[in-house]
Amino acid sequence: MIELKTPAEIRRMQVTGRFVAEVLSEVGRLADVGVNLLDLEHHARGMIERRGAQSCYWDYAPSFGRGPFRNVICLAVNDAVLHGLPHDYTLRDGDVLTADLAVGIDGWVADSARTVVVGTAAEEDLRIIRATEEALEAAIDMARPGNRLGDISAAIGAVAHAYGYPVNGEFGGHGLGRTMHEDPHVPNKGRAGRGLKLRPGLTLALEPWFARTTDRIVYDADGWTIRSADGSRTAHSEHTVAITEDGPLVLTRREPLPVQRSEAC
Ligand code: MG
Ligand code: MG
Repeated sequence: MIELKTPAEIRRMQVTGRFVAEVLSEVGRLADVGVNLLDLEHHARGMIERRGAQSCYWDYAPSFGRGPFRNVICLAVNDAVLHGLPHDYTLRDGDVLTADLAVGIDGWVADSARTVVVGTAAEEDLRIIRATEEALEAAIDMARPGNRLGDISAAIGAVAHAYGYPVNGEFGGHGLGRTMHEDPHVPNKGRAGRGLKLRPGLTLALEPWFARTTDRIVYDADGWTIRSADGSRTAHSEHTVAITEDGPLVLTRREPLPVQRSEAC
């Protein structure tokens, strides 16, 4: 079932969205050569506790995971892209890091993700990050009353195609609001003009993610972390977006920060 939100409810989701943006900005600032993923997890955990927010990930136990998730943030490195389980790993020069965060505040959820490079960036890594960010902006631009879900999917697919990246049609965006995952599913490829008609009050997490040379995925033994099947590097960009009478309203917009993080000091 799809639940349309009132303008007042969207404002409450925006409060959560601003906090999610703040945590992701902070994680992006801290991510650097020599930093352990567990330090980033603990930092995010501290911010969430101090804010009195609820992690949507903690104890999340869908059918595909191996036991409940006991972390507040997903951290995925290089060929890992989705549901990255934070673990004892120290970031190295040139690593590509994706951070994905969903929390609730006073019962309203927001979800966002970003990819950064730590240390010296390879041009091809910056390129795939740029592709997911452009695809996300193209998707957001389609999130208007009167358009259809397929317009969002097609916009993402078109950017991927222009860059020459294949697209996985299985994992994509989703509705959200009172919970992290609600209807509808928003595939990252599709046909323009098809599917659900977009209406004011629909709130969606739009999340293009690509791997450089494959649309296939493999799971780690932990049952969570999803990687590109051929080990090629990946990127993922996500925002929570409300469709309003006036067009798309991005609830998780961050302050602009460079994708490439500085060298270790
Ligand atoms: Mg997410
Ligand atoms: Mg999501």
